[in-house]
Amino acid sequence: MHSSPAELARSTLDSAPDAMLIVDEGGVIRFANRQVFALFSYGHAELIGQPIEVLMPERFRERHVGHRKCYMQAMRLRPMGVGLELLGRRRDGSEFPVEISLSPVQGGGSQLVAAAIRDVTDRKQVEAELIVARQMAERARETADHANQAKSRFLATASHDLRQPLQTLALLNGTLRRMVTEPRASQAIAQQEQAIATMSRLLNALLDISKLESGAIKPEPQDFRVDSLFHELRGEFAQVAADKALNWHVETCDDSVHSDPALVGQVLRNLVSNAIKYTPRGEVTLRSHSENGAIHIEIADTGVGIPPEQLRYIYDEFYQIGVAANSSREGYGLGLSIVQRIVKLLDARLEVASEVGKGSVFSLVLPPAILSLPAPCEAEPATASGPRTSKVRILLLEDDPAVRDATRMLLALEGYHVTPVASVAEALERLTDGEAPDMLVTDYHLSNGETGTQAITTLREALGVPLAAVLITGDTAVAREDTSRDAHLRVASKPVRAEELLELMRGLLG
Ligand code: ADP
Repeated sequence: MHSSPAELARSTLDSAPDAMLIVDEGGVIRFANRQVFALFSYGHAELIGQPIEVLMPERFRERHVGHRKCYMQAMRLRPMGVGLELLGRRRDGSEFPVEISLSPVQGGGSQLVAAAIRDVTDRKQVEAELIVARQMAERARETADHANQAKSRFLATASHDLRQPLQTLALLNGTLRRMVTEPRASQAIAQQEQAIATMSRLLNALLDISKLESGAIKPEPQDFRVDSLFHELRGEFAQVAADKALNWHVETCDDSVHSDPALVGQVLRNLVSNAIKYTPRGEVTLRSHSENGAIHIEIADTGVGIPPEQLRYIYDEFYQIGVAANSSREGYGLGLSIVQRIVKLLDARLEVASEVGKGSVFSLVLPPAILSLPAPCEAEPATASGPRTSKVRILLLEDDPAVRDATRMLLALEGYHVTPVASVAEALERLTDGEAPDMLVTDYHLSNGETGTQAITTLREALGVPLAAVLITGDTAVAREDTSRDAHLRVASKPVRAEELLELMRGLLG
């Protein structure tokens, strides 16, 4: 049986997925497919011959008549109400979001308009959910940012406020040790020194972890020679290894890597310190080799080793093999968790192989240097001819009266001529008073937002010479920036031990 063209058109339109209407020039519904009745819950007879406005909420009807007339005058294919939220209205008065596209149709000499209407309830719902999800994510990010900022502020305060009294204690301890001769008092002072050192180590470890977590530490990768770090470590650990009668062996190497030297240094210091700590006899070796295009820096020891089942826990905070969480022994179980955080930050890799009773090898895998680096120059020979402290004039710039006084006492006891000042202005005043100072010892964070770095520049300009300076700071990033470029500057991290400070000063004075 053949269908007429009109029947064919109707059955085609009825099977279309969208609701479709044909409206005449006067806005009267002339045709509607099956989906229109389903969507708006009207019967066929109820809708045909009615104005199109019955399908929209009453409050829009009047305005729509105007829009419709305009459209009839300049008809073209287009979506309706771009940028507007269009609503359809069912027979029972309920509303739902729709999308409508219009197109002109020629029909028997009169101008008709075809409208395709789509129910977009589901899409709008998804859009609304997406908006809510995005807002929630945004809010969560803001909360996290705030928490991070609060943490950074807390850290800045904690690091300054805790380091200051600790610094005072460390310097007073050094002073006392020089003043006291009675053996029992000396012993108490030595124990006190141990306690201060332990406190400093824990404070530093906690601050390191928080700093790494808050994102305050940003690696500054550069090409550098592994040997330059090895050179520093060789000296730094010589005494600790000798104290345990361990053979401390640092191999020479030609490798260069591309990474952040200060952070790599921190990782290696932690690993070497562990290797020495967990090796009762034998040797600890620091070496480097290149393998598959990467540089492997290895710390090998002949120590107690790590049982295989413990290997995955050693990076956890406060985890120490064979030690209950709250009992004490040397260290806090924080070293390797700091190491792991730094390794992640550096985008590097840390591998470990260990055998109980034989020893461990920790290996830091780094990318090679991008450029080839020239061999280092020989270190400048020291021209020191023994300490000569008595005539040496020290300008001491420190805004905290307790730290200033403790430092002054220590330096005076050591034989230096000390001029303590609290601000850059006071320091400048003192310059004109008498002989120029031989060295400036300054804190980094001074009051009124002044910094030790500014103080050094200002005083050097005033004197017209590159005045030797020791900058004492709790901020390791400052330390990294300033020491690399200045031969007359040494940076000490707070809390600095009395001996350390004096040693730095002697080194600078030559
Ligand atoms: P700790 O302050 O206890 O040294 P770490 O986080 O640095 O803390 O190390 C966690 C644990 O891993 C240590 O307590 C120790 O048991 C084990 N460990 C780390 N390095 C070595 C090593 N070189 N040899 C044997 N055991 C090690």
